[in-house]
Amino acid sequence: MRINDSKLIAAIDALGVDHKVGVSLAQKTSLEIGGTSDILVIHRHETLPELVHLLKQEGVPHRFLGGGSNVLLPDGELPWVVLQLARQDPDVRFEGNNVYVDCAADLGRTVTTCAKHDLGGMEGLIGVPGSIGGALRMNAGAYGTQIGTYVREVKIFRAASGRIETLTGNEINFEYRHTSFAPDDIMLSVRLELLSKPYSEILQGIRICNEKRRASQPLNQKSAGCIFKNPPGGSAGRMIDELGLKGHSVGDARVSDRHANFFINAGHATSADMLALIADVRRRVREKYGVELEEEVIVWKAQ
Ligand SMILES: Cc1cc2nc3c(=O)[nH]c(=O)nc-3n(C[C@H](O)[C@H](O)[C@H](O)COP(=O)(O)OP(=O)(O)OC[C@H]3O[C@@H](n4cnc5c(N)ncnc54)[C@H](O)[C@@H]3O)c2cc1C
Repeated sequence: MRINDSKLIAAIDALGVDHKVGVSLAQKTSLEIGGTSDILVIHRHETLPELVHLLKQEGVPHRFLGGGSNVLLPDGELPWVVLQLARQDPDVRFEGNNVYVDCAADLGRTVTTCAKHDLGGMEGLIGVPGSIGGALRMNAGAYGTQIGTYVREVKIFRAASGRIETLTGNEINFEYRHTSFAPDDIMLSVRLELLSKPYSEILQGIRICNEKRRASQPLNQKSAGCIFKNPPGGSAGRMIDELGLKGHSVGDARVSDRHANFFINAGHATSADMLALIADVRRRVREKYGVELEEEVIVWKAQ
């Protein structure tokens, strides 16, 4: 969506928010799928209430994008403007075992920065691309670790109240790839409490997780990680593999040969290709196993 109203453009500018016009969102997502939209980059958290107020007042719909590693965006002109947080420098601050992290920070880099301060626990999350904010929204997890375990406080912009608030960790439910944040909440920063561990021990854990990931995932291809959540007690990847669907494709959207729950953009896949592949695989799994797979990837649908 384009913001054309000159008064709104001036008000956004006055807030110190960067207005990037007609950006290709494909370049902002790991699937490299998505059309164009204006992006508003927020440098100071305090400006968010006023910015969202302005957008609402002018009837401009918006969506929030983190690192773009778990989203499938539509093709063509998007019906929303896209909000993003600017990276802060520094974006990580230490106080004993407490680590204060800005939500625009890169998750993997945060894990290694903490390791250098002899703070561990999140080794399993190394190799999960994206931002701290995206990891909080998704309760990112791997190899028996999930970020929610370490969350003590989150500063968020609550669209419902129009204010910035702080939630304590026990006010938030962190479940398998699901959290109790409202869909329009925007996470701004987090306090994590990590475990004291020697750097060498953390590094060893990081190496093991990196090797496991390299051995099983198509890391040099365009994907959004796992497309489906695992059903209770089951494995979506195993079911898709057993159906012989590795390599199955719709246009350039293809089930990875390496990991059956990773769907890749093998060239110039469109959103429509990927959605058709998701629907086709889901139908085949339903017919064979009677299981309705739920998407892990967040599909931005135009209402
Ligand atoms: C190769 C590969 C491997 C992966 N492996 C794993 C894995 O092992 N485990 C795992 O859990 N995931 C995995 N993923 C998926 C993905 O990396 C995670 O879900 C990640 O946490 C998403 O973060 P992001 O910043 O990229 O979020 P985005 O994709 O930008 O956004 C995802 C959702 O979160 C919302 N969001 C993002 N930031 C904020 C914020 N600050 N406030 C409010 N909402 C926000 C967005 O609106 C969107 O709805 C993998 C992906 C790839 C490409």
